[in-house]
Amino acid sequence: MREQLEKLKNETLTSIKSAGNVELLQDIRVRMLGRKGELTALMKGLGALSADERPIVGQLVNNVRDEIESALEAALAAAREQVKAERLKSERIDVTLPGRHAASGSKHPVSLIIEEVCEIFAGLGFAVAEGPEIEHDWYNFEALNFPPEHPARDMQDTFFVENNLLLRTHTSPVQIRTMLKQKPPLRIIAPGTVYRCDSDATHSPMFHQIEGLMVDSGITFGDLKGILTVFTNQLFGQKTGVRLRPSFFPFTEPSAEVDIACVICGGKGCRVCKNSGWLEILGAGMVDPEVYRHVNYDAENISGFAFGMGIERIAMLKYGINDMRLLFENDVRFLRQF
Ligand SMILES: [Zn+2]
Repeated sequence: MREQLEKLKNETLTSIKSAGNVELLQDIRVRMLGRKGELTALMKGLGALSADERPIVGQLVNNVRDEIESALEAALAAAREQVKAERLKSERIDVTLPGRHAASGSKHPVSLIIEEVCEIFAGLGFAVAEGPEIEHDWYNFEALNFPPEHPARDMQDTFFVENNLLLRTHTSPVQIRTMLKQKPPLRIIAPGTVYRCDSDATHSPMFHQIEGLMVDSGITFGDLKGILTVFTNQLFGQKTGVRLRPSFFPFTEPSAEVDIACVICGGKGCRVCKNSGWLEILGAGMVDPEVYRHVNYDAENISGFAFGMGIERIAMLKYGINDMRLLFENDVRFLRQF
């Protein structure tokens, strides 16, 4: 029985050492020390021994039991410690890891062009001016030399609000508002939203314009061409050619359409420029004396020029966008490209 006990003790201590995790150790405890455990069974067998042997063997069994119990306790404590250490390791926060970035938005191409155009003209001494989008007929038409019933009013399909109020059809009324407040010399650039009853691949009922106005003594058509050449060269690249063609606007005389050499084909001719090699980008001209009369300027002693361009058209040409509606659909996959 002594040998049997020794063997059982050694086997148990070995399996405790190799157990390695809490569950296996618990199993060993149940198998050896539980109510139906092997050691418990041996204890129960003590009754069959003689009165002399019984205390000696009993003492032995108790010693084995104590040894196994303390070995189990130590192994369990170590196993629990290991579990805790592993958990601490896996849940550790590494503050040196790079953070997760929130997706950031990008500026709308229309905003980008407005900013770029304003910046170029700021470099030429122009200040930014603004005006209301709901405008009085007088500022939008009459003061700009569109008399009532004038056929030129039909060129702009107007959204009327009520009586003499309308959604401005161009940014030109800002010229009038500025000249009424300020005496020459002045140089302004007026970006803003304008509205016309029109909608297809190259027209939107709401779009953006930038208006420019420079008034001083002795301003000539040459100054207009010079300023616009500097502007288009900066916006589209240094070698962009500029061409002025005679045109008509009620508020300028003479008037011109301004073309740049096609940015797609470089002037050779392509589908975008309809094989002409030129792209129309803005309208311009010398301010009509009739406009000065409406703002109480002395047309005899001052002169100036005005120009206006559609921002969406500039954005489409500059970024190679073939449908204006893309600019207003707010598809982030499209907008993220800028
Ligand atoms: Zn072309």
